[in-house]
Amino acid sequence: MDYYAPTALDDALDLLAPQPLDVVAGGTDFFPALPVGGAKHSLLDVTRIEGLRGISQDRGQDRGQDRGCVRIGAATRWSDIVHADLPACFDGLKQAARQVGSLQIQNAGTIAGNICNASPAADGVPPLLTLDAQVELTSKRGVRTLPLGRFLTGVRQTLRAGDELVTAILVPPMPAQACAAFDKLGSRSYLVISITMTAAVIGCDAEGRIDFARVAVGACSAVAQRLPALEADLLGRRPADIAVSREHLAPLSPITDVRGSAEFRLDVVAEQCLRTLHKAGQADG
Ligand SMILES: Cc1cc2nc3c(=O)[nH]c(=O)nc-3n(C[C@H](O)[C@H](O)[C@H](O)COP(=O)(O)OP(=O)(O)OC[C@H]3O[C@@H](n4cnc5c(N)ncnc54)[C@H](O)[C@@H]3O)c2cc1C
Repeated sequence: MDYYAPTALDDALDLLAPQPLDVVAGGTDFFPALPVGGAKHSLLDVTRIEGLRGISQDRGQDRGQDRGCVRIGAATRWSDIVHADLPACFDGLKQAARQVGSLQIQNAGTIAGNICNASPAADGVPPLLTLDAQVELTSKRGVRTLPLGRFLTGVRQTLRAGDELVTAILVPPMPAQACAAFDKLGSRSYLVISITMTAAVIGCDAEGRIDFARVAVGACSAVAQRLPALEADLLGRRPADIAVSREHLAPLSPITDVRGSAEFRLDVVAEQCLRTLHKAGQADG
């Protein structure tokens, strides 16, 4: 078994094109999940590739927009996100970052690793869904971007082809007044797999009525889901006047497991949506 740690993206793609390799970043999902006997393929470590770590602002003028996308490099660690200077609509992602595992996990685990691992309980996914995040995939064949909700197709399943690397997460411009929040229910505060988690981004007009709403729930379906009916019902309301019904939760299909029953998860998540929306609403000026 070989271990490759290229420093140039082109070299990484050259290695990946002709042979199956196990891509590894922080290794915090990959190594604990290794079967007895170890990895099947040689390893491609992406953490030393120049330009893959860090957060930058694309120049919107190139695309005729006032503001460009926020570009989060694939190998950006959760602790990088916690400490980044980002607009308020990223507060949900930051709150999620602070709750991924522990400080040690946040210092090693990356944003791309979290989404590529495609766990239903990946804490990064709901806040990224509320930010309309796109996944940038790069191979020798070129670059393509997919909405995160399309990239994730099931438990541990994504649309990443074997010769592709995730190179960045792109967040399009959000309304300037948008504020965000994240809430995670676990059996304790840290180092715990989420039972349910909810993320929200909302914006309010000059009268304090919601004019922009994104809500997403994780750990209640194979892939975290946005709640479009709830988002539509929120428009025109004040954050204090929100109600969440079972109909709003229709996209969810929770399972019963050791962490909680399906019914418990649905009860919890209705309340969790309310709390997350109130938290985002309080953050709004
Ligand atoms: C003790 C512990 C606690 C944890 N707690 C949490 C938690 O609270 N919440 C949570 O969501 N997660 C948690 N995790 C899981 C994990 O830390 C995160 O999902 C983390 O973000 C994974 O990132 P990584 O860089 O370590 O991924 P890796 O383990 O390196 O990779 C994970 C997967 O992504 C693929 N991959 C990585 N980078 C790329 C890329 N650029 N292109 C293509 N494929 C790629 C790998 O091939 C692999 O399949 C925990 C893990 C541990 C060990």
